[in-house]
Amino acid sequence: MADVEQIEQVERVIIVGSGPAGYTAALYTARANLSPLVIEGFLWGGLLQQTTDVENYPGFRDGIMGPELMQTMRDQAERFGARYITDNVTRVEPGAAEGDPHTVWVGDDAYRARAVVLAMGAEHKKLGVPGEEELANGRGVSYCATCDAAFFKDRDTIVVGGGDSAMEEAIFLAKFSSKVTLVHRRGEFRASQIMLDRARETENIEFATPYVVEAFLPGETGLLGNARLRHVETGEERDVPVAGGFVAIGHQPNSEIVQGIVETDENGYVITDARSTRTGVPGIFAAGDLVDHTYRQAVTAAGTGCMAALDAEWYLRDNPHVPTPAALEHTGDLAEEQWAPSSSAA
Ligand code: NAP
Repeated sequence: MADVEQIEQVERVIIVGSGPAGYTAALYTARANLSPLVIEGFLWGGLLQQTTDVENYPGFRDGIMGPELMQTMRDQAERFGARYITDNVTRVEPGAAEGDPHTVWVGDDAYRARAVVLAMGAEHKKLGVPGEEELANGRGVSYCATCDAAFFKDRDTIVVGGGDSAMEEAIFLAKFSSKVTLVHRRGEFRASQIMLDRARETENIEFATPYVVEAFLPGETGLLGNARLRHVETGEERDVPVAGGFVAIGHQPNSEIVQGIVETDENGYVITDARSTRTGVPGIFAAGDLVDHTYRQAVTAAGTGCMAALDAEWYLRDNPHVPTPAALEHTGDLAEEQWAPSSSAA
């Protein structure tokens, strides 16, 4: 625990995370004069930072590059007073009693706020097969074609998965690789028809179904050399020589820091009240891919970020804070006005 002296201020709103949900929550709370503190993570901007063209975010007729979209969202919220800490939150601790401020920890540093918006997003799912972990991080196995495709110019690669992400990765990789083999465990695809058609029409993309990857095997150099595939029905195994193995099998929510604090489902997604962003803990709200395993679009994440901002604003308006003795113990000699609800939120 940090010393009481370290705790200098109680924020009105802290936003944890910084994809479209986090930055939209920041924009709305900043425009409501709540001066949000955004603890955005080292890798700010979320998964869109690893994307190239975003063609389905409304307002950009000719599309926009993912990193540019995120930079613009960040700048837009900053223009209205959002403040940023580029670090990772390690823990979220709810207030001791209802209405008490919540504590957001970054290592040993404590930040306290009356309302917290959780928007930590999701990360790429792993296959969990032998060799995957050992050969990741620059040794051949990757979760981001946008980031790593150029390393595999004129080399053979595979993409694992049957959804839109896998199609997108394969189509992008095909611009660099000599041949891309798309490995999917079923004959049917989850991908949208348009993406599937684009992949099928790409000359140097081959499909291998129904196959699963049994292992990623190192070559003589210690880098990825082969992918071991197994036919799901016949059990036949074969080693396919590849320099790059791209895993695109979906995402899992980054909810570790709030496990046991707010309710999550069996896959780790944070559960919110229907038609709102309220978690079971008063004053803690959740938005974006952390909550949504169905739509997972930049625009839907931005939409729920907006909802979380409004829910937080209404919560602050409806719950003028009266500190409990327990809260005062934590906060030492805080000035009374630091506890006052924001008049602008009303
Ligand atoms: P997804 O739709 O959940 O697809 C995941 C794919 O990976 C499925 O085909 C699944 O196989 C397979 N898979 C999952 N676990 C596996 C395992 N352990 N071993 C082998 N295969 C496994 O995920 P997504 O492709 O990331 O898409 C998520 C959402 O984002 C979707 O709504 C999608 O439309 C959207 N998206 C849109 C775009 C775009 O429009 N440009 C791009 C990317 C994503 P099964 O089918 O057998 O379950």
